[in-house]
Amino acid sequence: MIINEQKLDKLAELAIKTGVALQKGQDLLLTAPIEALPLVRRISVHAYKAGANIVTPLFSDPEITLARYLHAPDESFDKAPNWLFNGMGEAFDNNTARLAIVGEDPLLLSSQDPDKVGRANKATSIAYKPARERITRFDINWNIISWPGKAWAIQMFPELKPEEAQSRLADAIFSASRVDGLDPVEEWDKHNKNLKKWSDWLNKKNFYSLHFKGPGTDLTVGLAKDHEWMGGASMAQNGVICNPNIPSEEVFTTPHAQKVDGEVCATKPLSHQGSLIENIKVKFEKGKIIEAHASKGEEVLLKVLDSDEGARRLGEVALVPDNSPIAQTGLLFYNTLFDENAACHIALGQCYTKCFKNQNLTKEEIISKGGNSSMIHIDWMIGSNQIDIDGIEEDGTKIPVFRKGQWALNF
Ligand code: ZN
Ligand code: ZN
Repeated sequence: MIINEQKLDKLAELAIKTGVALQKGQDLLLTAPIEALPLVRRISVHAYKAGANIVTPLFSDPEITLARYLHAPDESFDKAPNWLFNGMGEAFDNNTARLAIVGEDPLLLSSQDPDKVGRANKATSIAYKPARERITRFDINWNIISWPGKAWAIQMFPELKPEEAQSRLADAIFSASRVDGLDPVEEWDKHNKNLKKWSDWLNKKNFYSLHFKGPGTDLTVGLAKDHEWMGGASMAQNGVICNPNIPSEEVFTTPHAQKVDGEVCATKPLSHQGSLIENIKVKFEKGKIIEAHASKGEEVLLKVLDSDEGARRLGEVALVPDNSPIAQTGLLFYNTLFDENAACHIALGQCYTKCFKNQNLTKEEIISKGGNSSMIHIDWMIGSNQIDIDGIEEDGTKIPVFRKGQWALNF
């Protein structure tokens, strides 16, 4: 194998011990592209060593996905396997941990009919909602990691031979995921402490809004009432402290869905369910996107924005310094998990309902505090080394938070 087997094993171990933090006697639900089988097998070994009850993998295959677009009847694109997603919801209600391995071809669907892609995405989003809510509500411990998929690698390194590209991507994933050193688990303990330092500071400040300024961007993002900043390790409702994302460099919170105003330009292309959306530029008024453009993939973007009532409003704002290891690679991964951790970002759609001081709010209370509700949650990057951010207090006082893409203070 072209992929360093030792590091792959460390990634698997990290996913179980630090990522999902699997507890003795817990079931584990895994989803992965079929080519990630070597990683899934290693994860299963570490899961059972950690005391897993049952490990259940669900695989996806690009050829089977494409077969649908080529041969399925038109009505197929308004359907989704509800039974599967309902089963996932049931599993989560019974304390099953969730591990997702990503690494699919980011452009798999880019030459398919955008109408079909949009309808299929919508049908899946609707069917997945009950299961997704349990994840966004953080009912159970969960984690996402990456497999260096071949098609993904070729897109990132088109100048290299496929095997070399895959090996380069594997190395980039290992270093971004901090599994390069001798003891990745300890490495992550240190990293988590650092992220907590920043989220603690932001929570103490309790800003009313954040103001982003940079080329093409002049955006005020109001923050939800009683919002809470989070980052790195956090405790799920079932009491397990896990790291949902590996890698993760962000601290994030819930913006106020009615209090976002101004213009913002994306600083990286957005790879969304097989399509690439480039040079997004949108205008917000009272929290809602009233104008949206993209130089490429605009049709897909507009479909996304029309998914439902909450799709034009923000559900997340996240801060990532420009000196993060992922930003430093200078690579565009065409993958949200990595690209969102290279830059400050915002997300359209569903808010993280856990990002409140009181984590047991009702739906109505969340909405009244400014939390957004939607069947989508799509992150896109607005940070760069040219972005300044001010925190604005309730009385209008401005405090520098970021200057030229870095934390404006040192402690
Ligand atoms: Zn984020
Ligand atoms: Zn997000």
